[in-house]
Amino acid sequence: MTTLLEHRYRAGEMHRFLAAEADFVYLPRAGAIFALDAATADVLGRLRDAPVAHGDLAAALTDDGMSQADAEGLLRELRLVGLIEADHVVSPVALVDSPPADFPLQALVLNVTNQCNLACTYCYEFGADKISTQTGKPKYMTPETARAAVDFLLDSAKGRDAVHVTFFGGETLMNFKLLRDVVAYADAKAAESGRRVTYSLTTNATLLTDPIIDFLAGHAVGVTVSIDGPEEMQDARRVYKSGKGSYAVILPRLKALIARHKTRAITARVTLSAGVTDVVAIYHHLKHDIGFHEIGFAPVTTTEDGHDFGLNGDGMRGVLNGFHALADEWLDHALRGQMHGFSNVSETLSELVVGTNKSHPCGAGLGLLGVSPSGDLSPCHRFTDADEHVLGHVGSGVDQDRRADFLARGHVGAKYECTSCWARPLCAGGCHHEAFVRYGDTGHANLHYCDWIREWTDRVLAIYGTLAVRNPQFLERFADRKGLS
Ligand code: SF4
Ligand code: SF4
Repeated sequence: MTTLLEHRYRAGEMHRFLAAEADFVYLPRAGAIFALDAATADVLGRLRDAPVAHGDLAAALTDDGMSQADAEGLLRELRLVGLIEADHVVSPVALVDSPPADFPLQALVLNVTNQCNLACTYCYEFGADKISTQTGKPKYMTPETARAAVDFLLDSAKGRDAVHVTFFGGETLMNFKLLRDVVAYADAKAAESGRRVTYSLTTNATLLTDPIIDFLAGHAVGVTVSIDGPEEMQDARRVYKSGKGSYAVILPRLKALIARHKTRAITARVTLSAGVTDVVAIYHHLKHDIGFHEIGFAPVTTTEDGHDFGLNGDGMRGVLNGFHALADEWLDHALRGQMHGFSNVSETLSELVVGTNKSHPCGAGLGLLGVSPSGDLSPCHRFTDADEHVLGHVGSGVDQDRRADFLARGHVGAKYECTSCWARPLCAGGCHHEAFVRYGDTGHANLHYCDWIREWTDRVLAIYGTLAVRNPQFLERFADRKGLS
């Protein structure tokens, strides 16, 4: 048996970063960020190359003027938070537990139709997991199915005061009548038990009219518009079946949407694909020429054989450079106390502020389920109408065995590479659907963009650190933000 004085320590699992000339550390086991004081930085510096005995560390601290009691107290504290750990102990891989099996549902994504009036060349509606199965599926959700979905949501969300319904497509507004009926039904049904429903939708904006906009504003329906940027970029891939671009059609409708809908932020969701990567130009067009409140970007990193719109290494590097430029702008705004609309920073920062430490990359299959027009349940909207991912039906409920299998495979602890990755509290292996398309397994880590994810997470950590030093009040704004995938 060794005494405490003979214990040797090594540095615990951490990611160190500098911000505003201060030294910070991110602890993946806790999803926590600490500013390092000089004494802690000194201890970690001594452990950089090899383990050091407890007595030697304590002696070094007392040589630097610390009392013996303070030195022992500091080493105890560092052990407790995991910044240092005993060298003779094999630490189990510390991973977050899954939420309980009866985790109550919080949100449904209703695919009110799988039909679309556009034929965007990268649309996942025609992904490999669906192409063979869509024939014969209902094209539009019926009112009966939609009501059953609302009943299922409210029944499954026991204990929650509010639930959320997102409308999705295809093109969502091709079934606007159903959307209107669902809002009326869900509001009334939730009120019976003193609860509340919030709403959002995703649309390509081609079918927006003033009455539709007024309905959405009147019911505080959050609107996300799928749009790729200025005319030449939008019309590169967001086209009608004839090949004609959609920019000229949507522009006046977007102006009307932003002018009339004041009850929720209006968000643009940009798909970055080969040739459409100038994120700075896209951001400024959508923010300043059109007037969106927030703009988020999603790169296409995976495509099926025969498609050429996915981003290669150079494309992804270019996107990341653009992200850094927008992150500079974001931070300049934040230091002046102003919000910038680049939501890729805001969303990651919110997760850091609340100490997110994920068991799974997203809410799919946990608090969130997708519903296909037929009423089939799936992990999220991207899996709807894909038979092999069905997790039940709104009429009969969740198939708990299939759900448990999906969640077990998608748990961060089941992804070998992720278990030693410092970015896992936020990434947890990345999108299940993307993993399926790329690797044929929803539980596979998305290893093709790890470097990208780590560089971007490191950048947002630096923004966090800079604000923690220079404008800590601004960080508090991010404690309440919530997002859906
Ligand atoms: S997918 Fe890559 S970046 Fe994400 S947690 Fe796993 S190893 Fe880390
Ligand atoms: S990250 Fe992927 S799996 Fe998760 S909700 Fe979004 S699309 Fe679905």
